[in-house]
Amino acid sequence: MRQGLLMIGGNKVAAQSGETFAVFNPDTQQVFAHVARAGVNDVEQAVASAQKGFKQWSALAPKEREQVLLKAAELIEAQGMERLLDILIDESGSAITKATFEINYTVDLLRTAAGEVRRLYGETFPNDNPNRMSMVMRNPIGVVAVVSPYNAPLSLLTKMAAFPLAAGNAIVIKPSEETPIIALELADILWQAGIPKDAVNVVCGFGEDCGAPLTNHKDVDCIALTGSSQTGIAVGQAAIKRMVRAQLELGGKSAALVLKDMDPVKAAQIVAQGIFTHAGQICMANSRVVVAKEIFEQFCRALKAAAESLIIGELRSPACIYGPLINQKAVDKVDTLVRQAVSEGASLLTGGKVKRGLVYEPTVLVNPSRESGAWREELFGPVACVVSCDDIDQGIELANDSDYGLSASVLTKNIAWAMRAAKEIDAGAVHVGMHSFQSNALAPIGGSKLSGIGRSGGAYSTEEFTELKWISIELSDD
Ligand code: NAD
Repeated sequence: MRQGLLMIGGNKVAAQSGETFAVFNPDTQQVFAHVARAGVNDVEQAVASAQKGFKQWSALAPKEREQVLLKAAELIEAQGMERLLDILIDESGSAITKATFEINYTVDLLRTAAGEVRRLYGETFPNDNPNRMSMVMRNPIGVVAVVSPYNAPLSLLTKMAAFPLAAGNAIVIKPSEETPIIALELADILWQAGIPKDAVNVVCGFGEDCGAPLTNHKDVDCIALTGSSQTGIAVGQAAIKRMVRAQLELGGKSAALVLKDMDPVKAAQIVAQGIFTHAGQICMANSRVVVAKEIFEQFCRALKAAAESLIIGELRSPACIYGPLINQKAVDKVDTLVRQAVSEGASLLTGGKVKRGLVYEPTVLVNPSRESGAWREELFGPVACVVSCDDIDQGIELANDSDYGLSASVLTKNIAWAMRAAKEIDAGAVHVGMHSFQSNALAPIGGSKLSGIGRSGGAYSTEEFTELKWISIELSDD
């Protein structure tokens, strides 16, 4: 049985209250770990430590900060792979291919963030007064609260932690209560890589009694949250009351638009990957699929066949696409919304029930009502909602029929249709010829509408986690 301790002020410590909470392996539903449960007092200490850490870390030379991030990447490659794989599989129910992807992406993110350390550019700008000079200096903000979700608990956390660190900030991490152990591993790797320990702290616990005290703390200067839109709204409102910046990466209900020139079988294979990978527990999963009427029937047949051929629930098999949902509540939500959609007129083409434990069958709903929860809400499960469109105009309208705007996919070979859809679909990303979840450490990840505010990745993160200062100088002597 694993034990998880808080990481505060350079030490691994129990919560001041002595309380712990259990973390479950979603596949076996057995206890995976007991973890110290942080409350207000622990948060207080972690923020005080980060304030100290900020002074030390931000004072280091760029090459020293760069070296720490590169070393962390190297440590993962040299010694961390197997251990991290096991944790991702056992703690978050990741299939081995998804876990491997996450680890490789984590290494990539750390190296990309290391590259940003030397690109914290300022600038000068013209001044009408010849005796005056104006410049812009870019500074780190201070202490960043990093609040992460459970679905990609290593790579998303790395993205949210490494770029603020690259810019010279200190961090306090609050990982998902479902996946704290992998976060503690990442923080430990950063400590081993030589970061001043006060610059990276971890408080484990729940949203209300640990996340909220952290994001509301008067000495937290900036917030990076990846989570549901509901949490994002609460955290964002609290942040604006204190006038601190919050970069919010929230929920999604991404559409795949399949146009009439597309091979329906190929399109179904792409869409199946886009919705069923990690059981649809991906913010950018293409959970809504809009298909040209000319190929609708063939597409539906092919998607059913693709769904029924998937290998699920065998986490350590390289052929497995997904395992369990994270907990019973998640299964109940998916099942309830699928049943409701069917009772409101949708056809259930395949799936619609639990296979075993928390593993839900790949599910295809055809023609759910546009008012149904299955079409409108983020299910975060392996459920594709498929509808047809008469033409590209209606296709784009249906793709935009959502409160979310995180990502989208357009499947066509016609460049004009692709560019038009890319321009008119209201989302933070549009991927042509691919499904809707794509990753690139340099890309600006983020969304419109309820999908959040701000962008993260490469230089875009630098914009979020640095503060600009205008400095002007009088050059004349008198
Ligand atoms: P969640 O909102 O339940 O929790 C996210 C984190 O916020 C957790 O650490 C949680 O403890 C914390 N939290 C909850 N309430 C809080 C509060 N009041 N104050 C401060 N912290 C609080 O999300 P989840 O269920 O862990 O993750 C799934 C969600 O994350 C989905 O909606 C998914 O779309 C979204 N997500 C978005 C992206 C993206 O890039 N846009 C990426 C991954 C996941």
